[in-house]
Amino acid sequence: MPELPEVEVSRLGITPHLLGESVMRVVVRNASLRWPVPAEIQELTGLTVTGIRRRAKYLLLETDWGTAILHLGMSGNLKVLPHGTPAGKHDHVDIEFANGKLLRLNDPRRFGCLLWTRDAVEEHPLLAKLGPEPLTDDFDGDYLFQRSRNRKTAVKQFIMDNHVVVGVGNIYANESLFSAGIHPQRESGSISRARYLKLAEEIKTVLARAIGQGGTTLKDFTGSDGKPGYFVQELQVYGRTGQPCIQCGSLLKEIRMNGRSTVYCSRCQR
Ligand SMILES: [Zn+2]
Repeated sequence: MPELPEVEVSRLGITPHLLGESVMRVVVRNASLRWPVPAEIQELTGLTVTGIRRRAKYLLLETDWGTAILHLGMSGNLKVLPHGTPAGKHDHVDIEFANGKLLRLNDPRRFGCLLWTRDAVEEHPLLAKLGPEPLTDDFDGDYLFQRSRNRKTAVKQFIMDNHVVVGVGNIYANESLFSAGIHPQRESGSISRARYLKLAEEIKTVLARAIGQGGTTLKDFTGSDGKPGYFVQELQVYGRTGQPCIQCGSLLKEIRMNGRSTVYCSRCQR
């Protein structure tokens, strides 16, 4: 599933090709995504993309008239291709630009979306209630400490809650809790300010590192093979159940939390 780093890398990958360019045509081959692609998406035609931003895992293509909201769902990916590139089975939408390029949305499982709004995009129902971006100054240990007081939720669920902070997917929650030495099942309201300072730093580090590693795949973005914007990274705990902890050598344990794989070291994480 594309996580925040993949979406950010997608943003970085498409921006040089599309920013400041005007839309010639929008081709919707299959409107049946998670929500139907609205007919109003055709309002994009003739408009210039003035900004390509990201909010949580939503990509926002901004114009002076409205904003296209794009989400990659479970299996979506974006490519920038020349006009006339034949479409494959799951290539649901092309946005063609006057510079001869097109932005193609491919999504085999169709959990992604492409929506259009003429209102302030931050107030769109999908975005309005989201917590802060993890890589901004709005997110830090003090914030996590304040938000967690009197909460009984396990800390892993707490940091994966989009209302608390966006973009901390399962892999990144596992990794940052290990780096911060915090047990994933610990009650979020019982964790000290000092430990939250460490955790917030580790969340920023693990996400920034993933974006940095993804940056090396940018050259594939306009290619016709592979899955652009997806990348493998070095993980300390996730996917390493039963293997020795890199810090103490104990064997890593795995439990399910909210149905998601949770790997931790019972000696290093308290
Ligand atoms: Zn350990």
